[in-house]
Amino acid sequence: MARTKEQILDLIQAAGVVGAGGAGFPTHVKLNSSPEYVIANCAECEPLIRSDKYLMEMHAEEIVDGMRAALEATGARYGVLAVKEKNHAAVDALERACADDPQINVHLLENYYPAGDEQQIIYEVTGRVIPVGQLPISVGCVVINAQTLRHVAQAVRGVPVTSRNVTVCGEVASPVTLEVPIGTAVDYLIELAGGSLLADPAVIIGGPLMGRVTFDIAHEFVTKTTNGVIVLPKDHPLIDKKNSDFDRQYRIARSACCQCNYCTLICPRSHLGLGVQPHKIMQALTLNRAEVLTDGLSALGCCNCGLCTYVGCNMGLTPNRFIYAVRADLLKKKVKTDKQPAPVNKMRDLVKAPTHRVIQRTGIAAYDVDVPFLSDHRPPAAVRIMLRQHIGAACVPTVARDDRVTCGQCIGAPPEGALGARVHASISGTVIAVTEDHIDIMDI
Ligand code: SF4
Ligand code: SF4
Repeated sequence: MARTKEQILDLIQAAGVVGAGGAGFPTHVKLNSSPEYVIANCAECEPLIRSDKYLMEMHAEEIVDGMRAALEATGARYGVLAVKEKNHAAVDALERACADDPQINVHLLENYYPAGDEQQIIYEVTGRVIPVGQLPISVGCVVINAQTLRHVAQAVRGVPVTSRNVTVCGEVASPVTLEVPIGTAVDYLIELAGGSLLADPAVIIGGPLMGRVTFDIAHEFVTKTTNGVIVLPKDHPLIDKKNSDFDRQYRIARSACCQCNYCTLICPRSHLGLGVQPHKIMQALTLNRAEVLTDGLSALGCCNCGLCTYVGCNMGLTPNRFIYAVRADLLKKKVKTDKQPAPVNKMRDLVKAPTHRVIQRTGIAAYDVDVPFLSDHRPPAAVRIMLRQHIGAACVPTVARDDRVTCGQCIGAPPEGALGARVHASISGTVIAVTEDHIDIMDI
């Protein structure tokens, strides 16, 4: 029986589905639109992370089911599964899963970074570029991550989001990818990967380039958007660049930026005609010369992919941190631009950053190893469900301490009318703590 748009969106909302590959935008809101294309982001562009690779190999049917539900909800004409050609098994599985559906096709991507950036993937599939400050729907597209599509498929069967794939790698004894309950402790994940090889490591939550650094592993838990946990030495260059004192970086940049322009020459958003010029931002900031900015709003087009810093700059500077700070300031002031994109660089294909080069330049080649999928592992005895795992308002708990809960039960919901996504118990057990920002459940 055909379902209405509202019925599908209600099921997705009830299941608490959010963008699992990005900042966690609520999916029922994203799909409440009328695009021409729904594009599945199966690129998994960050090095070392293999979460979506296994998801595609093992659950391609569900990803395609999720795509069908998204097409049904939005009325979109085309469903495109954009996946890197190098992931042969994943490509085969997706092609098999959509073989009988004329509305859904597989689009092959090269192995470059950041192939999974929304702007890049939309350009690769449709040849369109989103004007700075606008959403993909402005060019007739909606982009949904592979893990999110699996959650959508489960949601329309009445199954809420309670688990996701995570890759655990770096300085661990046995790097693995595994499906774990939302709320699993990161130190437990590291234990499942054979334990840390370092006594006092730093950890990147997410991919090596766009992930965030933490030294407080005991207080980190898997959320709906956690795709990777990378254990590194505290003095690893990646950690230093991500974490070093901003004022110190600024002082160094003032004397060391030679305006070589390499940061802009490698910027993938610049090549799409979005006017992003990190070298100009560096010049303006470090020399206090605002007038050198040919377009003062150019920072708005930055996606913080980090290529300018980790691959472009030979002086060890961090232009991505400066341009992102400028961008954050512009967004805070609600500055907007109506500038249309310039023509795409004709040489774009030649200047893409191959992933192997990114791996070499970031000093993570030693960690680029086979990461098997671990299907047989002990579930955690306790989980911590964060009340904000999404863009929008934090959830309000709907359970109290000592309540018994079952896996899949809704335990928190956004305030009435607010943007957000529900959260659910990811294991059965007893609620042992409820705070303003989380709910702890123990298997007792
Ligand atoms: S690549 Fe580095 S040194 Fe060159 S302009 Fe950019 S920030 Fe300055
Ligand atoms: S982080 Fe750097 S390379 Fe990436 S989009 Fe921003 S300016 Fe360009």
